[in-house]
Amino acid sequence: MVGGPHLFLFHRRGNWDRHLLPPVAAKVRSAMASENKDGEQHRHQEVGHKSLLQSDALYQYILETSVYPREPEPMKELRDITAKHPWNLMTTSADEGQFLGMLLKLINAKNTMEIGVYTGYSLLATALALPDDGKILAMDINRENFEIGLPVIQKAGVAHKIDFREGPALPVLDQLVEDVNSIRLQISDFQINRRLDELKIEFCAQAKNHGSFDFVFVDADKDNYINYHKRLLELVKVGGVIAYDNTLWNGSVVAPPDAPMRKYIRYYRDFVIELNKALAADERIEICQLPVGDGVTICRRVK
Ligand code: SAM
Ligand code: CA
Repeated sequence: MVGGPHLFLFHRRGNWDRHLLPPVAAKVRSAMASENKDGEQHRHQEVGHKSLLQSDALYQYILETSVYPREPEPMKELRDITAKHPWNLMTTSADEGQFLGMLLKLINAKNTMEIGVYTGYSLLATALALPDDGKILAMDINRENFEIGLPVIQKAGVAHKIDFREGPALPVLDQLVEDVNSIRLQISDFQINRRLDELKIEFCAQAKNHGSFDFVFVDADKDNYINYHKRLLELVKVGGVIAYDNTLWNGSVVAPPDAPMRKYIRYYRDFVIELNKALAADERIEICQLPVGDGVTICRRVK
């Protein structure tokens, strides 16, 4: 039972909330009360909340104690705007936004990419974490939603870091992989007086974008993640990081095939399971799958 044993412990110990500020304790108490009453029914009360923690109260505690007090004002504003949008389930949660910002700073990321922008919460987290000359190539098939968040991003003074491309990401990645800086003519075994048809002439194309990205956040169509992975491994530098979002796919990765599931969860489930297997078996990367948000797998390119 999710939450059960932990809540029981909370109650038995008594005075569990004495270390909390009164408004925090009130929110945690209310989350515990709704959970006690309705079991899992109230689990998705926070926008973007797909936590795998033992209880809603614990998740609420993290948000109230460590995330919201440190959330930059523009991110709070964008979170509030997004909460009113009908597809708000798609947004990155505040705790994952904080995690992304921290990760980007830890690896000193400068040249980055985001696949799947929606209203731009993770994009803003990235833009705020990068240095002033940092770059984000951001892709989404839907420009309209990006434009909901754009005024907040502009007001935050970080829009200059973003190159937004409307459309499917795969052709953009293909183009990035193909683009060359220059073509070098190489003549081997050159000797004076050699006949022209005896010379070995080679054209060497210098790939422009290979190994040029420090960080990529993938948060779009799950059935394409494996296709993105093939291309991204060429584009991210050795030592660079690719983060795949939603790799626990609402917990469905461990659900029996006949378990009741929403249609879109069922459709993408097998793709996510296959991706997780492929990432675990890929020797070109080191991985770490974290239960943050809906599960995020951090891949560090090593080959
Ligand atoms: N990272 C976003 C955030 O923090 O709010 C959430 C992204 S949302 C889960 C997924 C997004 O992927 C949607 O906005 C959708 O339009 C976009 N998308 C779906 N298929 C795509 C594709 N083939 N190429 C680019 N974007 C795509
Ligand atoms: Ca996501």
